[in-house]
Amino acid sequence: AKSEGRNLYRFFEPKMDAMVQTRRALEVDLETALPRQEFDLDFQPIMNIASGEITGAEALMRWHSPVRGTVAPDQFIPVAEDIGLIVPLGEWALRKACAAAAGWPPGLRIAVNVSAVQLRSDGFARSVISALAFSGVPAGQLELEITETVLMDESKAVLKALRQLRDLGIRIALDDFGTGYSSLGYLRRFPVDKIKIDRSFIRDIGNRDTAAIVRTIIGLGTELGIVVTAEGVETELQLDMLRDNGCTEAQGYLIGVPSKAADIQRLLKSRAPR
Ligand code: C2E
Ligand code: CA
Ligand code: CA
Ligand code: CA
Repeated sequence: AKSEGRNLYRFFEPKMDAMVQTRRALEVDLETALPRQEFDLDFQPIMNIASGEITGAEALMRWHSPVRGTVAPDQFIPVAEDIGLIVPLGEWALRKACAAAAGWPPGLRIAVNVSAVQLRSDGFARSVISALAFSGVPAGQLELEITETVLMDESKAVLKALRQLRDLGIRIALDDFGTGYSSLGYLRRFPVDKIKIDRSFIRDIGNRDTAAIVRTIIGLGTELGIVVTAEGVETELQLDMLRDNGCTEAQGYLIGVPSKAADIQRLLKSRAPR
């Protein structure tokens, strides 16, 4: 059977080989990227729609590879998850994000994306608590953005970690809301503080049916007493529609692009609530 398998593999060999090698090369580069300090965080502002004030920012990871150039997180996060790098990398991001937020005006929130693999890992809650303690950022100012993939794993460990963090006052946001299989089911089973309407809905908000869905999500958030943030807001028209329908917050290129820590700090100091 062994030799048969080998023959089958041989049949696909040239193409497979190329794919395996490309992937392996990416893994090798990624593994050395953290000690070589090739990662960085950008920060994208989040605005309260009614007041126009900036209420915080989301940390977005960047990989500046000397050989590959800047690699988008969608390209390397899944690989980092597969090779287990996401745990130290995610921890690095948390610390870095909290350190940046420590220099912001008080009350502003820092949002950090957390992958399912990271949340499931041993000691995750502890690492969050330590990042907060080290930076001096209050728990109430930290928001963890999770996707449905996190909630699909209904293990006791994940539930326990989420509860523990929430009990400390850390907020949980459900990212990419509406794109998964059972967003509503998760909303019922897991207490969250915020939902982020996925960018794809905002992009198509001019479509009648999509607009109806967006209004419904906003209404849902209002009924549940949680914050609703619209992602990917690029035009005044989109923002007007969201405002008219009572959406709490907006994030997107119209409000501000992801920017370096120093630039976001300046923006936050000039546009934060007083
Ligand atoms: P996300 O959490 O949904 O982040 C929003 C993405 O939309 C970001 O892409 C952001 O740059 C982009 N974006 C923001 N405003 C607009 C807009 O107006 N128009 C358009 N077209 N795009 C906009 P980015 O930075 O490439 O990140 C992609 C994804 O990678 C994120 O999606 C998130 O899932 C993941 N990611 C980023 N940083 C981290 C991290 O530190 N940890 C983990 N686990 N995942 C991360
Ligand atoms: Ca996010
Ligand atoms: Ca999102
Ligand atoms: Ca996303």
